[in-house]
Amino acid sequence: TTDTFDLKAHIRGIPDFPKPGILFYDISTLLRHGPAWRAAMAKLAAAIRPHRPDLLAGIESRGFLVAAPLALELGLGFIMLRKPRKLPGLTIGLNYALEYGTDRIEMQADSVQNGQRVVILDDLLATGGTMAAGISLLRQAGAEVPCAAALIELTFLGGRSRLDVPFESLVAYD
Ligand code: 5GP
Repeated sequence: TTDTFDLKAHIRGIPDFPKPGILFYDISTLLRHGPAWRAAMAKLAAAIRPHRPDLLAGIESRGFLVAAPLALELGLGFIMLRKPRKLPGLTIGLNYALEYGTDRIEMQADSVQNGQRVVILDDLLATGGTMAAGISLLRQAGAEVPCAAALIELTFLGGRSRLDVPFESLVAYD
């Protein structure tokens, strides 16, 4: 098949954000362009459909912007993996290591039924720490995770190798 859609043309790199020396890949320019956003979601839907998800999970907050429209596209439900103390009711959580310090993600304890296939999504995979934590938390909740996916992958950080599931992305930077 021919593919004329150039996703990289809709993503900009912003130097020195959020810290000096970091090149931040900004998806705001993609989100504000209706046809490009739609094309990106269609491509990602095609990449994850073969993994036969029952449910999609998004990582706060830009992961929500990927997982929710994809869930609509695929006719599936969507669950949120959130920063601490954001979700009502009974939650389960997981602490994970950052370069400096730790972070935590939480989900509602009753989000997933045992053995449901949950594909996890974020906007971008860097070191893979966030995605790896999300996968562990989903398994703790009883999910099977057949695949993880993101719009963008920073290949030079080797995040994919930290994941024990297949990983799909639409564009890579190195
Ligand atoms: P990791 O845990 O893989 O090192 O970092 C990935 C997380 O940080 C993702 O949730 C992602 O949203 C955020 N992130 C890190 N760097 C960037 C970047 O350059 N652009 C965007 N949009 N998000 C980033």
